[in-house]
Amino acid sequence: MASLQGPRAPLEFGGPLGAAGLLLLLPATMFHLLLVARSGPARLLGPPPYLPGLEVLWSPRALLLLLTWLGLQAALYLLPARKVAEGQELKDKSRLCYPINGNLIYDFFLGRELNPRICSFDFKYFCELRPGLIGWVFINLALLVQEAEQRGSPSLAMWLVNGFQLLYVGDALWHEEAILTTMDITHDGFGFMLAFGDLAWVPFTYSLQAQFLLYHPQPLGLPMAAVICLINAIGYYIFRGANSQKNTFRKNPSDPSVSGLETIPTATGRQLLVSGWWGMVRHPNYLGDLIMALAWSLPCGVSHLLPYFYVLYFTALLVHREARDERQCLQKYGRAWQEYCRRVPYRILPYIY
Ligand code: NDP
Repeated sequence: MASLQGPRAPLEFGGPLGAAGLLLLLPATMFHLLLVARSGPARLLGPPPYLPGLEVLWSPRALLLLLTWLGLQAALYLLPARKVAEGQELKDKSRLCYPINGNLIYDFFLGRELNPRICSFDFKYFCELRPGLIGWVFINLALLVQEAEQRGSPSLAMWLVNGFQLLYVGDALWHEEAILTTMDITHDGFGFMLAFGDLAWVPFTYSLQAQFLLYHPQPLGLPMAAVICLINAIGYYIFRGANSQKNTFRKNPSDPSVSGLETIPTATGRQLLVSGWWGMVRHPNYLGDLIMALAWSLPCGVSHLLPYFYVLYFTALLVHREARDERQCLQKYGRAWQEYCRRVPYRILPYIY
């Protein structure tokens, strides 16, 4: 197995102190959001609602359901009838690093191992796509059914939120192979950040809009619904166009759909796209993702901040992620990356950021 951090790997997420803070902050935020969504005033920035007692939080039936869900996903993951795709070349292909002085909290948060596996069972890859992402869709669906039971039929807002997020998850599963080139797989270790993020944070906080709608129904007219659908379609078009263009280019630069694009050569032998989506801003896929995030919140109206938590959090996550990626690309490509930044000056939002 490959060790992630070499002796001189720069510390991320504010080092051990930042990692310790996030270890506490992430689960606390998740619980806070879930409790606020169920509370009457649903005030995101208000005092934390009363924490239910342990007897409410602990349920052997819920634990059994969770273990069954994970077991089912693991069984499906191990089915022999599947395509096997090759991952990216490991960064440490030439030599292994053996850091002596690790930091327990930092390593626990970021993960020490890049690709922990037992035989062909890859823990990180399994967690990234299956139990949490599909679980998010099932939680949304359960909330839709519950709304139908309570009010006779699901609201238009609930249909939109369910439809948009189903499209997003379906897209991720359809383009499953593309995950092999993402930062999560190629750069980040498998620690608390990804395990908690994939298994708890994603299904429970990404379904916040549907949870909010169940407890706080919002009226939504057809014209506004049409506008929101258009916003989601624009976001998806940019997101899918940019991701597919880069994936196709990385897999086969002479593919007819990308062979005509302008590129910058780099010392590594790889090239950087400098026209098409990747000539508009340096992270067009993030832009599309953020536009979709906005479309997921708009069906919840503008009376509460809570359903917009995802847009706010996701903006912070992608701005931070973009900075991390830029640092890595500068290290990888040096002058060629500087030239790319000169040619494409904006990071995510044209003419603004
Ligand atoms: P990206 O798919 O944006 O990949 C970044 C890498 O692309 C770079 O490291 C570089 O790698 C390559 N690259 C950058 N610029 C160029 C260029 N001009 N030409 C060719 N290659 C280039 O990384 P992410 O993993 O951050 O994102 C993947 C998707 O996942 C995004 O759409 C993002 O929005 C989404 N996402 C969603 C999250 C969620 O919670 N919903 C969380 C995180 C991400 P190299 O040169 O080595 O190929």
